[in-house]
Amino acid sequence: MLALVGEAGELAELFQWRREDEAAPGLPGYSAKDRGAVEEELADVLLYLIRMSDVCGIDLGAAAAAKIAKNAAKYPAERCRGSAAKYHTYQEMRTEARQQKRGREEVAAEGEAGKEDKKEEEQ
Ligand SMILES: [Mg+2]
Repeated sequence: MLALVGEAGELAELFQWRREDEAAPGLPGYSAKDRGAVEEELADVLLYLIRMSDVCGIDLGAAAAAKIAKNAAKYPAERCRGSAAKYHTYQEMRTEARQQKRGREEVAAEGEAGKEDKKEEEQ
C-alpha cells in the first residue's frame, strides 16, 4: 500500500507547479525526458495497483466496470455534463423538485377539499 501511495506521489510531483497549458492533454509543455518520467510513474502506479488487487483477491477489471456503472447512475450525463458538483447536489435538486411537485399536488388537493367543505356548509 505504501509503495502505491509513494508512486502516486512521484507521479503527482511531475505535475506539481506546472502551468495548465503545459499539462494540457498530450502534455505539450513537457520535454521528451519529462514525458518519459510520467510514463514510468504511470506504469509504477498501475503495477502496484494490479499487485494490490491481486493480494486482496479483487478482480480489478470487474471492480472498475462496476464503479463506472455506479458513477453513471450517480452522475447522470444529461444533468452532470460540464459540472464538477458532487452527486449530493444532484440528489438535492431532485429532492427539491419532488418536494415542489408534492407541494403543488397538496395545494391542489387542499383546494379541492376546501371546495367540498364549502359545498357541505352550503347544504
Ligand atoms: Mg516510481
